[in-house]
Amino acid sequence: MQYTEKRMGGTRLRLAHNQPSVVGSDGKVITVTPWLAPIVWEGTFDPTLIDSIYKQQNITIATTVFALGKYTQFLKDFLESAEQNYFVGFCVHYYLFTDQPQQVPKLKLGEGHQLTVVEVPSSNRWQEITLRRMERLEKLIESRLINEADYVFSLDVDTKFYGRWGTESLGRLIGVIHPGYYQTPREQFPYERRPESQAFIPRAEGDYYYGGAVIGGLVKDVYEVAKTCRKQLDIDAAKSIEAAWQEESHLNKYFLYNKPSKVLSPEYLWQDLKARTNEVKIIRFSQVIKNYAAVRPNP
Ligand code: UDP
Ligand code: MN
Repeated sequence: MQYTEKRMGGTRLRLAHNQPSVVGSDGKVITVTPWLAPIVWEGTFDPTLIDSIYKQQNITIATTVFALGKYTQFLKDFLESAEQNYFVGFCVHYYLFTDQPQQVPKLKLGEGHQLTVVEVPSSNRWQEITLRRMERLEKLIESRLINEADYVFSLDVDTKFYGRWGTESLGRLIGVIHPGYYQTPREQFPYERRPESQAFIPRAEGDYYYGGAVIGGLVKDVYEVAKTCRKQLDIDAAKSIEAAWQEESHLNKYFLYNKPSKVLSPEYLWQDLKARTNEVKIIRFSQVIKNYAAVRPNP
């Protein structure tokens, strides 16, 4: 079935396609997307081999983390567990945005790892904090990362690493499959469904539901994500419309039209409160259980 869609000033022809599976009917995981991007699962790569390839390239991986208000309480576990698991042996530069620099735990970082604290004003709305992340990422890339890093990941802080997260996750543009929806029909994805929003996705479209807790890739490509989402968020804000899942909704829209070159399986974004499933052999990074009322500045 073919249909045309008008967008960004031009008319383009699009082919409707079926929703890609993440787990096959035989229970085996799918390791490639229909646009030939790898889906990274345990068993699909050799860590020693893949590290040796990147070792020769002398790369720096910038990593942005936001901890404002009560979210500074997550920093210790986040950083300590990252130091055990996240790009061990490679150059990592954390850029930590916070309104309370004195709350940043003093930690001895592994070799080649460094941390820069960026002080930002506090906010009394969590929606504002999460929405501003795109803008801050955009500005940081412009002012520093363009010169200081090769790859960048933006990660949620209310998380913990439990297993290796290394060079297998590197690529031009990286998205992670949200652990809550990888076996859900796309009509039921929590995409933004109001056409008035820039994040709108029709029921018949969509590949995966990507988690907003992880964005990554080459600095230049992540810059395009951040800039585009920031602009779309601004357009929505001017119309007093806030997408269902804020920047996650805009990220999903971006990835629908700009496909990731590599997709991380839910091993790279689990939830502590979610029961383990057969297909997930190892949990590498997981959202910790939090009491929303106790950690967020507003309901
Ligand atoms: N955040 C923050 N302070 C807040 C709310 C959010 O620093 O008061 C940052 C923090 O980095 C967090 C991210 O925004 O990991 C996303 O917000 P949250 O984790 O609350 O969203 P969820 O993962 O629950 O959708
Ligand atoms: Mn979170």
